[in-house]
Amino acid sequence: MTTTKTKIAVHKLTSCSGCQLAFINQGPGLLSLLEHIEICHFIEVGIDNPECPVDVAFIEGSISTPHDLERIKSVRALSKLVVTVGACATSGGVQALRNLACLYDEPHQLKARVYAAPEHIATLAHSQPVATAINVDFELWGCPVSTEQLLRFLSQLLVGAKPKLEKEKLCMECKRQQNVCVMVTKQALCLGPVIRTGCGAMCPSYGKACYGCYGPSEQPNTRSLANRMQGLGAVDSDIAQRFAQFHGDTPQFRAEIEHWIVHKEEKQ
Ligand code: SF4
Ligand code: SF4
Repeated sequence: MTTTKTKIAVHKLTSCSGCQLAFINQGPGLLSLLEHIEICHFIEVGIDNPECPVDVAFIEGSISTPHDLERIKSVRALSKLVVTVGACATSGGVQALRNLACLYDEPHQLKARVYAAPEHIATLAHSQPVATAINVDFELWGCPVSTEQLLRFLSQLLVGAKPKLEKEKLCMECKRQQNVCVMVTKQALCLGPVIRTGCGAMCPSYGKACYGCYGPSEQPNTRSLANRMQGLGAVDSDIAQRFAQFHGDTPQFRAEIEHWIVHKEEKQ
């Protein structure tokens, strides 16, 4: 008896490749899935066929260059389902911090601070999530996306179930793990109350504040959390920086950054 395998592709746009590694880190889990899937394109494992039509295309990286924009349209046309993996693809990620440059002094010098010859760098005016250019079917957040989350997502797809995506607040998972709250006991600037779960509350489990790798949760009350941070002694720039780290260009976090940076003088 022959069974049809699900064809998948893993595409990279502007990114650090960390989310592709999360794929590879599935190790034996990924190997066992090979009975059911056929990998048609995945440059990190040496399979190079970006024009192959597939059932599911996983996208790592943001749209930061004209080439990214061209490629993502072609990927959409070749794929039945498109799934973004990681912060870059879902929210623009770390490289979308440049979208916030207008909030700071001398934004035009940003490229020159990073590159010795900035005239050779061809980028779009902004770094954008994939969903701004094409229709996206599912989003897996995280920087990087979690290996367990990927494996669970793929397994649900393969049995024909609608994948259940994480969006509740990290504090819920943290409490289920019976962690001691670092915000209460150490006055740490934890982002858990406004961040979606998916990492298993990894940082609070080791006594550290959440850095916000997984992006805004459903209905995040960012202003309330920011006010609490101020009450703990954080200065305005610390609060803005906290929200800027991984998902600074999402509407919810950008509003908070603008509030604590741009309106700072008005508040004084
Ligand atoms: S989301 Fe993070 S780990 Fe994944 S590609 Fe972007 S920067 Fe790298
Ligand atoms: S440690 Fe952070 S994630 Fe955990 S309950 Fe406290 S605020 Fe929430």
